Amino acid sequence: MQTKLLINGELVSGEGESQVVVEPATATEIARIEESTFEQVDAAVRAAAEAFEEFSQTSPAYRSGLLLQIADLIEANGEQLAALESLDVGKPWPSAYNDEFPLIVDTFRFFAGAARTMAASAAGEYVPDHTSMIRRDPLGPVAAIAPWNYPLMMASWKIAAAMAAGCTVVLKPSEITPLASLCLAELLAPVLPKGVQNVIYDRGRSVGDRLINAPEIEVIAITGSPGTGWAAMRAGAQSLKHVHLELGGKAPVIVLQDADVTGVAKMIRSASFFNAGQDCAQPCRILAHEAVYDRLIAAVGSEVGAIRIGAQKAPGTEMGPLVSAEHRDRVAGFVERARGTAEVVTGGAFGDTPGYFYKPTVIANVDNDAEIARNEVFGPVVTLSRFSDIADAVKVANSGRYGLASSVWTRDVGMAMSVTKKLHYGFTWVNTHGVATPEMPWAAMKGSGTGSDMSVYALNGYTAVRHVMIAHA
Ligand code: NAD
Repeated sequence: MQTKLLINGELVSGEGESQVVVEPATATEIARIEESTFEQVDAAVRAAAEAFEEFSQTSPAYRSGLLLQIADLIEANGEQLAALESLDVGKPWPSAYNDEFPLIVDTFRFFAGAARTMAASAAGEYVPDHTSMIRRDPLGPVAAIAPWNYPLMMASWKIAAAMAAGCTVVLKPSEITPLASLCLAELLAPVLPKGVQNVIYDRGRSVGDRLINAPEIEVIAITGSPGTGWAAMRAGAQSLKHVHLELGGKAPVIVLQDADVTGVAKMIRSASFFNAGQDCAQPCRILAHEAVYDRLIAAVGSEVGAIRIGAQKAPGTEMGPLVSAEHRDRVAGFVERARGTAEVVTGGAFGDTPGYFYKPTVIANVDNDAEIARNEVFGPVVTLSRFSDIADAVKVANSGRYGLASSVWTRDVGMAMSVTKKLHYGFTWVNTHGVATPEMPWAAMKGSGTGSDMSVYALNGYTAVRHVMIAHA
């Protein structure tokens, strides 16, 4: 198993403390990896800064070629990378290989194209005898920090966009799930010019902090929890870095009286429990009109009660474990505290086998102010609450701190448009939830972050708009 860091084109062992990586489906140790030291973080940052001088001057066509090469490499090594991801996070094999993997490859292919579309507005004469033009140039070395839930996909969203823009990168995967990212480091080493892509490994609050505060870093791009977002904002404020944040979510699912109840229940079964619910866009907060509320509880309870949990490659497994014992206990805590005031329709218990399993859980009659209705649980738990007036449902949906994903379920297109327009969320699906494509932004509002990953809009996070004026005489 590849556990070395990638610094300035060389694979090197970490020289810091050793961290244990655990397989969550069995609760057994799978690797011990030495963290980067402060000196190694500094070396990676220096390498990215030195490489930026040349890489930022390369043509879009050149960078596009590199991104296509990376896509081919990832595709060719798909089984190995998906196996590591599945082992490390506990993802069912079909989710890791058939669902997530194609999007990772396609992200690099999309940004290979996007690299060649970075146009700025046309030149013109705004002052007599002077021509002005707008340039869009790469900002500088990027600290890209990924979470544990979709390690390789979140890393890809950052790396691909940054490289397309002409930026160099120091990537830090999560200390909990680093295996696929370290394997990617080995694949990239012979392909990329040295220093363009560096991969370090460490716990966020200690060594990761060194990375985001490094003076050479110009962009901090983090996907993670709000607490980490604040740390990034603080680091950015101290030395005025650009900060791009994709943080937590609490996605409302607004079900109107004319919605396809069976369709909603089936979507909940697949989307809410995908990746064991450890998903920032997880449809977790179902707000149902009173006309369909009871039918929806019955339909969701029956779909979710039938979900099969198990090991990654066990036949029929739909949902795996939570990532760690600590996280499973945190999720269980939310459910225990909710029991006093709401009804646990199904689940609400640990799994029956070793590993960090928690049964798919549905909680009904949840008060809109309840802790479980407002905070991100980030696990296999959905809540249902009733509304009678659509305006109230929109108000409740908009009242939380988060503003990432949301969905509206109705057969009435006009109503869908009217509700969609009023929601303060980076993205809203109508009659579906969780479908992602690299052409469209994964956009964050409010406490869920700033800017977006994927799509041409992601390039804004890594480029500066510049004005160049030429005097004619
Ligand atoms: P986390 O914030 O604990 O960790 C994320 C990363 O930040 C890790 O690599 C960690 O080591 C690092 N980190 C932590 N403190 C740091 C610091 N002070 N300096 C530098 N790096 C630091 O988050 P997590 O538990 O890994 O992931 C779960 C969270 O991520 C959830 O809140 C989830 O909603 C969010 N998430 C958001 C999106 C999105 O697109 N918006 C996608 C996936 C996950």
